[in-house]
Amino acid sequence: MATELRGAEDSTADRAEAAKQKRQERAARKAEEAPAREIRHAVPAEERHCPACGSEDLKPLGKGRTSVVYEYVPARFEKQVHVQEVLACACGRGVVTALLRPGWWIGASTAPASSPTW
Ligand SMILES: [Zn+2]
Repeated sequence: MATELRGAEDSTADRAEAAKQKRQERAARKAEEAPAREIRHAVPAEERHCPACGSEDLKPLGKGRTSVVYEYVPARFEKQVHVQEVLACACGRGVVTALLRPGWWIGASTAPASSPTW
């Protein structure tokens, strides 16, 4: 950022603005650099059937649906990557996606993220 010579009033306001911007940039950088933890959300057994035809012949649709949540854990940022299981039916018409359920973090904090249950 270039520093320019200006009147005293201007530079005070500019300095405050620059400091604020610097803080925001630092916070954004920290969030970006935060270690990522993958939390997997599986479609539960009772929902593993095609909404179109009722068939249970479902296959994972790619890696699933991913969303990123930044959570400030005291003293550090944690990047949580949520992967919702997405199942596609052999009929080609039905897709089932695991929901992001309230309370998922209870299970996520006790089970290691590296050992998915499916
Ligand atoms: Zn189907």
